[in-house]
Amino acid sequence: MNHRSLLLWMLFGSLLALAVARGNSNASLTGHVLGDHEDLNEIPVRYDDTELWRIHNISDALLWTVPVTEIMENKFGANIWKENPKYVDLSITKTQAKGARSFLNAHRLDTEVLARNVQDLIDEEQLEGIRATQAKLGRRIRKASNDGSEMNWNDYQSLETIYDYMREIRAKYPDICRLYTIGHTYGGRELKVLRISENPRDNKKIWIDGGIHAREWISPATVTFILSKLMDDWENQPKYIRELTWYIMPVMNPDGYQYSRTVNRLWRKNRSPSTIRANCFGVDLNRNFDIGWTSQGSSKDPCSDIYRGSAPNSELETKAVAEFLSKRKYNLEAYLTYHSYGQLIVYPWAFKAVKVKDANVLQRVANTAAERIIQKTGTPYKAAVTHEVLGIAGGGSDDWSRGVLGVKYVYTVELRDRGLNGFVLPPKYIKDTAIEGWTVAETVAQAIG
Ligand SMILES: [Zn+2]
Repeated sequence: MNHRSLLLWMLFGSLLALAVARGNSNASLTGHVLGDHEDLNEIPVRYDDTELWRIHNISDALLWTVPVTEIMENKFGANIWKENPKYVDLSITKTQAKGARSFLNAHRLDTEVLARNVQDLIDEEQLEGIRATQAKLGRRIRKASNDGSEMNWNDYQSLETIYDYMREIRAKYPDICRLYTIGHTYGGRELKVLRISENPRDNKKIWIDGGIHAREWISPATVTFILSKLMDDWENQPKYIRELTWYIMPVMNPDGYQYSRTVNRLWRKNRSPSTIRANCFGVDLNRNFDIGWTSQGSSKDPCSDIYRGSAPNSELETKAVAEFLSKRKYNLEAYLTYHSYGQLIVYPWAFKAVKVKDANVLQRVANTAAERIIQKTGTPYKAAVTHEVLGIAGGGSDDWSRGVLGVKYVYTVELRDRGLNGFVLPPKYIKDTAIEGWTVAETVAQAIG
């Protein structure tokens, strides 16, 4: 083969590889990992002509018992992104905006427009991810390397890629890894947990989960990154890391996660259908745990984004995690759960306006993590007790692990950002945000000692 035809063959090979890669990503976009009960033909939800707002000083209005959030949701069809004692972030269509504005003006509530078109945020996020993946593939072809892994942190990954990555790690380190399927979802997907341990019987344990809320894509990305930080160089990890048993669950809500990737980018709950309201789907898994279940901050309405379910542990995901952890509560020293957004490291309680007795210890460890994050990436994180910064909410996994299992180091980490992109965090920020998440895990591991 002469030089020129060799070049042509190489070019052809590159194009073919790119086409295959694009084919794969299309497959996952159209629901490649489809559950048993799902509709193939569901039309993706678009957010054209939808704005992202922040309404300030809502607690002033709450003093006068105006349920701002509920009114925005029920009367003006707003989608609540984030609610705390200071402000509410929500998306709202332009057709509803006028009425909503006059309502807010009448109550002297300041509104800031964070984004003019939510669909643009979603489109840009997707395009950036595709570009980053193609650039990486290009490099791989030139180097003719094949590491056999599609996992990377240039883009958000499908459930299938995440699960393949977990299997791959288990296969690479069979002596210290064990991969569990702790249950299945309503949609028939597996709930997977990876255990890393050199001494499962005696080690102190740390649990890490992500993806309880579907649309918080940075969370599974961060938890898989934590897994890679642990396993890429396990032998050289410090003692305080190697002498722990790590339980890692990157996606607690696989049905919701895939739904948010294929149909509705802003989906939050799982996908179990309501038995009392037709056409209403999903339970907020972080309101479904068996602690303070009837407390404020959740809803009895199956259509609500913060629906608590028909009973505590009514959901397969919650039940599986609660059963798995209850059996392993001996020596369980830390429970870390990753969410977005807000840049917070918070600890119990959430279901009541009280701090845990050892709040000073939890605050100190969280402060250390926040200081280390500033040194590494320059991003400010605030350490605080949950109810003060996020408001009161019952049924959370964090409170449950402290209140029912008695875990000492319990933290909810709200990753980036502080509202500029909200859930739709551009892929270029994944790596640094994941480093921030890893820093918290590392600091807590060290505190367990
Ligand atoms: Zn969340």
